[in-house]
Amino acid sequence: MLNPLSPALQPAPSCAFTRIEAAVGNTPLAHIRLSFRGRPIEIFAKAEMYNLSGSIKDRMALNILRRARASDALRPGQPIAEATSGNAGIAIAAIGCALGHPVTIFMPDWMSIERRQLIASYGAEVRLVSREEGGFLGSIAAAEKLGADEGYFLPRQFCNEDNCCAHASGTLPETWAQMERVGARLSGFVAGVGTGGTVMGAMRFLREKDATIPVHPVEPASSPTLSTGHKVGQHRMQGISDEFIPDIVKVDQLDPIIAVEDGDAILMAQRIGRELGLGVGISSGGNILAAVLAADMQQGETKIATVLADNHMKYLSTDLMREEPVKPGYLTPDITLDELTMIPG
Ligand code: PMP
Repeated sequence: MLNPLSPALQPAPSCAFTRIEAAVGNTPLAHIRLSFRGRPIEIFAKAEMYNLSGSIKDRMALNILRRARASDALRPGQPIAEATSGNAGIAIAAIGCALGHPVTIFMPDWMSIERRQLIASYGAEVRLVSREEGGFLGSIAAAEKLGADEGYFLPRQFCNEDNCCAHASGTLPETWAQMERVGARLSGFVAGVGTGGTVMGAMRFLREKDATIPVHPVEPASSPTLSTGHKVGQHRMQGISDEFIPDIVKVDQLDPIIAVEDGDAILMAQRIGRELGLGVGISSGGNILAAVLAADMQQGETKIATVLADNHMKYLSTDLMREEPVKPGYLTPDITLDELTMIPG
């Protein structure tokens, strides 16, 4: 099989997209049977770590760059700049550089070292932005400046509808079809909100299928940006709740926000790794907890879908690898993970 990224084989752009496409999407679906305070619950979680650069953000990066090239908004060889808390930068670096675009990524300087090094490993430039320089909002302003002053292409994942489309036409139809294959009907969806592409894309797809299916955004309890509208507190769930409500997120069209404690998310992510053999990042632990809470809001048989946005490897230097204290009110101690079955993509 040809290596789709080999520079020696670099084909014409449209063809290059086609060849990368096979490595993005069609991920397996993790069917997790668990018990919460004695009640059996089924959760279906898209295993997004199996995408090209290891996260759900490959879907966004591929779709935005492909659509931009098709409309000529992105010209061959044009440099690309984006602000991101990590996975989007890794995905845009991998796909952008492979398609012959110089890539510059602006990122808050408190994101994990693995994230910075991974972006650099794909040949992109990483520019760190401190809290004093404006953190996440400062990163966005810096990318915008490169766009205005130096003609960089800006994917603008926080306000680009092609981000949502990647999930409305990819992640969710795949999930729905995989569940149908095993005779399961989805009764709710939850996802942590970074750009909101996942949750809004899910809403768009599911409202057409059955408008009664709830779609809940998830946020860290200690830093509830969605419920307050601005940055408050701090949290350790890298990739979600980035300091502001993105343009593409319409909180009033979604079902109630579900809050999870970051320590609880860490404990759940650790247990998913240790007990099920699925190494996941912290937001994935949070999504599983939120799925349990969403199931708890429903009567009878529930089947909640969500995503495992990335794996644990970007968190080896973080609290995911340390002993996390159990605090009163945490859900993880009341959950037993009974069985995992992977449904192929
Ligand atoms: N989890 C992780 C680890 C992420 O990197 C992201 C993307 N920032 C998300 C969740 C949220 O995805 P979205 O941007 O589609 O809201």
